[in-house]
Amino acid sequence: MSVTGNQGRLWAIGEVTKRTPRIFANGHKVSDYFGCNTFNQKVMVEKLPKDVYKSLLKTIHGGHKLDQGIAGAVAHAIKEWALENGCTHFCHWFQPNTGITAEKHDAFLTVDGDGSAIERFSASQLVQSEPDASSFPSGGMRATFEARGYTIWDPSSPIFIMEGPNGKTLCIPSAFISYHGQALDKKTPLLRSVEYLSGNALQVLKLFGKNPTHVEATLGPEQEYFLIDEAFYSLRPDLQASGRTLIGAPSPKGQQLEDQYFGSIKSRILAFMQELEHEGFKLGIPMKTRHNEVAPSQFEAAPVFEMVGVATDHNQLTMELMRRVAKRHNLAFLIHEKPFAGINGSGKHNNWSMATSDGENLLEPGATPEANLQFLVFLMATMKGVWKHSRLLRAAIAGSGNDHRLGANEAPPAIISVFLGEELTKVLDAIEANALEGATTEKQVINLNISKLPEIAKDNTDRNRTSPFAFTGNKFEFRAVASSVSTATPMATLNAAVGEALGEIAGRLEAKIKEVGDFGKAVIELVREYVVETKAIRFEGNNYSEEWVVEAEKRGLPNLRKTPEALAELATDAAAALFTAAGVYSHDELEARYHLEVERYIKDIEIEVACLDEMVSTMVLPAASKHQANIASAVASLKAIGIDGAAVEAQVADVAQFAGLIADLKAAQTAMKSAMAAAESEDLQKKASALAYSVGPAMDAVRGVCDTLEQVVEDALWPLPKYREMLFLS
Ligand code: ADP
Ligand code: MG
Repeated sequence: MSVTGNQGRLWAIGEVTKRTPRIFANGHKVSDYFGCNTFNQKVMVEKLPKDVYKSLLKTIHGGHKLDQGIAGAVAHAIKEWALENGCTHFCHWFQPNTGITAEKHDAFLTVDGDGSAIERFSASQLVQSEPDASSFPSGGMRATFEARGYTIWDPSSPIFIMEGPNGKTLCIPSAFISYHGQALDKKTPLLRSVEYLSGNALQVLKLFGKNPTHVEATLGPEQEYFLIDEAFYSLRPDLQASGRTLIGAPSPKGQQLEDQYFGSIKSRILAFMQELEHEGFKLGIPMKTRHNEVAPSQFEAAPVFEMVGVATDHNQLTMELMRRVAKRHNLAFLIHEKPFAGINGSGKHNNWSMATSDGENLLEPGATPEANLQFLVFLMATMKGVWKHSRLLRAAIAGSGNDHRLGANEAPPAIISVFLGEELTKVLDAIEANALEGATTEKQVINLNISKLPEIAKDNTDRNRTSPFAFTGNKFEFRAVASSVSTATPMATLNAAVGEALGEIAGRLEAKIKEVGDFGKAVIELVREYVVETKAIRFEGNNYSEEWVVEAEKRGLPNLRKTPEALAELATDAAAALFTAAGVYSHDELEARYHLEVERYIKDIEIEVACLDEMVSTMVLPAASKHQANIASAVASLKAIGIDGAAVEAQVADVAQFAGLIADLKAAQTAMKSAMAAAESEDLQKKASALAYSVGPAMDAVRGVCDTLEQVVEDALWPLPKYREMLFLS
């Protein structure tokens, strides 16, 4: 069937109006089946000899290396459990630098010499696998002639069963490294960053007389996303190729009525959310919150926080489940940061803190004044890390999608700052102003103004929604993170930055205690030094305002507006110094990461330009030409029967004006292609900048004319689903 004019749209609208919520059989209490598809502690207790279980627990929770001696017993237990649950295959599940997950399945089945079939799974198959690594992005670190890469089981994240339409697969969360041990994935640097953070945090805690075995970073990622009907999606080449609409006029009704946020959830969407949660619960993902977001057809899901490695895996799984479950509901899942122009985009708010192995949240103001001294120190470490490495944090959230969101008056700007809230600010100001003068003992010092911290910090009613990095009572919320990306890189960067600050603090605090004598006083003096040093990063005002851009510049805060200049930070000495000292990336790995991120950016834009060009040539211009022919012949037919005069002249002018739009579009399209050709360069950094700063505006110009045309071309001729349809029909 050749689809012309709006036939496709009419078909899609017809499909959408027939849809009903998908029903699936559930009816079980969640606690009865939560984690049933994971090799969890209950299963371990059942299936593993006691000593093996104990040893494995140390690896899972204590960061101990896996005792190779137990791998055989563990593999055997896992195989039994997997087969009992209907698995036919197993895979190492890992996170290459594509940003999504990868898996290569192998059957448990082996056929012996005598032709008899048996299921086997060895210790070495559990611990290590060797996928052909040559087709994953490596940033040039691994030449294809030595394409070997290994996946290594990461026992800190639970093994799980993924259900497929006709069978089940055992998935083993893994790290992915090259033959020479270099990280080829996002998970390995994250795990290393936690080790670094832990080591330095322990040093600080020791000075407070505490000796937990390790410190973890915790993460609760709030995930925003869009859902539209898949019939509309199937008619939008731009959504399919690039994840966002490259053209599309605004809907007369957008989000101006503010009636979507926290509004009642449409039943088709609720059906999706319920099935999503059901799937997530089986995998042990603690999905907690669901609601409508600000933009039409935009939603949010948030889990209960977990250790950062597990939370990162769970977030990757959640995005994957969202994609799969959406399909079952005839919905298309849009994870791009800005699928629709003119309305809010999507982010991933990373709620982050540090917790000890004894379960203490290090950013929780305590019940006692002593605890609050410790809280202030960990707060300062975070401030110092973010202040010193704000450029790297900006780089960690860079990507072509987030460029459309950051600073777009809905999301934080590209300038990284920290929001603490009024009361906490008062406390820090008092410490800075030395309002503690006269107090000589720890008790006196504390009583002066930090004894009320717990209530103060929690009473953060003036939540600053515009801040990229906000304190929210007992954790920070890194709100500038992109919706589509893995949380691994932003979290590894934050862990490294704060870890470095903690190492520095441990040294300085020890010296200070010797110098001052009194512990409490020493802490407060050190805190004061950090308050002064990091003051520039604190901002309580409206991050969306123009004044902030000016003010931030005065303060010397970087404003890395677009991805190319943000990524360039990865190639600096400062980046190398932090990441190599933290052991998060080696020089080679960092260079590779820089290259592959820049390459990724370039590819994204190239895909968008190719797609836009084709849509203009094959969809917009043909529709416009037909419309032009129609209106021109209407005028010509008037003239043919002798009707003349001012009214007809006005219509002639309309035709001329419309023809002008077509000419404008052709000119804009040519200019975009010229800009693209001019951007070509051997120097990838230069090319990326040209794409951002000359091709980007050229694409906007093309879009501008297309969107004007959409609003004047006869509706029956317009082939692309319109915003008002995609966003409001489901
Ligand atoms: P808010 O309304 O402040 O955003 P929520 O209670 O909804 O707070 O929490 C948002 C996210 O923050 C959730 O995923 C939650 O589990 C997570 N969170 C809470 N405490 C911590 C913590 N200590 N570390 C990391 N994440 C946390
Ligand atoms: Mg929140």
